[in-house]
Amino acid sequence: MESFKRPQQAIGLIDGYDPLDPFAPIGVRSRATVEPPDSLALGPLKKIYLIWMVGASCDGCTVAVSGGTHPRVEHLLAGIIPGLPRVELVHTVVSTESGAEWTHNLFMAERGELDAPYVITWEGSIMDESISGDGYWMGLGEDPATGRQITSLEWLDRLSPGAAAVIAIGTCATWGGIPASKGNVTNAMGMMDYLGKDYRSSFGVPVVNIPGCAPIGDNYLETAAAVCLFLNGLAPLPEFDELGRPAWLFGETVHRHCPRAGYYEEGVFAEEYGDKECLVELGCWGPVVQCNIAERGQVDGHGGCMQMGGICIGCTMPGFPDKFSPIGAIAPGSLISSTTSRAVGGFIRRMRGISRVDKNMTPRWDKDIPTGWSRAKTGPRGSMKTVHKFYSKYQHTHEGHN
Ligand code: SF4
Ligand code: SF4
Repeated sequence: MESFKRPQQAIGLIDGYDPLDPFAPIGVRSRATVEPPDSLALGPLKKIYLIWMVGASCDGCTVAVSGGTHPRVEHLLAGIIPGLPRVELVHTVVSTESGAEWTHNLFMAERGELDAPYVITWEGSIMDESISGDGYWMGLGEDPATGRQITSLEWLDRLSPGAAAVIAIGTCATWGGIPASKGNVTNAMGMMDYLGKDYRSSFGVPVVNIPGCAPIGDNYLETAAAVCLFLNGLAPLPEFDELGRPAWLFGETVHRHCPRAGYYEEGVFAEEYGDKECLVELGCWGPVVQCNIAERGQVDGHGGCMQMGGICIGCTMPGFPDKFSPIGAIAPGSLISSTTSRAVGGFIRRMRGISRVDKNMTPRWDKDIPTGWSRAKTGPRGSMKTVHKFYSKYQHTHEGHN
């Protein structure tokens, strides 16, 4: 671990800041950091700056990512994942520096003075400052020369052209989310609406969208890592769908991987929260919503909506929340499918029940040979025995004829 320690001797002031001062801008401080061993640096990029900015946000996306494990945030910051550049984080909440020292990083990025490329991650909706009148919706530091308030949106305008990539995290940043719901006094919108669908970063990357309210932290970390591999020249650009979502994460519906999907197929539905069956009649939108929480869980494979007993309210979708409201009301279309499933699935479930009786019998018990277990008397009787006999004959029809 010796190689990860900071050097003990000062390397001189940069921009008036001491690089060994823990509260100096990270863009300055990072130059005094000894890089991880070269054996871990497989590409040309040794490090990358991650500038995390916010619009109308609750910080839920930050909380979600801090719990991620694939890869771990700590490993990215330490630069110990082969092929991935070390990440220097410039974050509105968790950075050590604040005020002028924090915004100094953004000025350095704009002037091209950072010693590595920077990626912007944007959390929260973009609020339309053109309608904010004499005030502003979201400020992020001041111009040191004039004292003028700089808005978050102005920083996005100034930094997005030079960014190596722009990643929108959470449903507010991707599609507008809750701040853009009915009423929307700030004219809130998502990143793609603001930058335009044709936006490309300085490395040619389109806006990357990781929706969810809150998103799965690992969806962000995995995608950001894949983008960094691309920036480092070690992998192709990951595949995104027509809405800029990672195609491998958002290509399936919740329903297809839901642990309750078997109940739906057999037409058995929960009547109240706490029941273990399918939640569609309580208002679950899982059959139409693109989200991978049923396979991935919320944090490190644990939790998730249906796993914890909750319905899907469509939080990853561009139509959220207005097109999924009133939340908790049964979706009109699901009445048709659940009624059909109740009829067809109910029949199939009964057939399976009959088959299960047979499969719960050992061949010895089938022969009515009394045993110490005394299970022989529990086998099918009468017409059911005949049904099982024919079923078994059919099942083994082709054995020994090849
Ligand atoms: S709980 Fe929702 S996602 Fe799960 S099986 Fe039922 S409808 Fe599908
Ligand atoms: S299952 Fe539905 S409510 Fe839950 S995270 Fe996914 S989209 Fe959001």
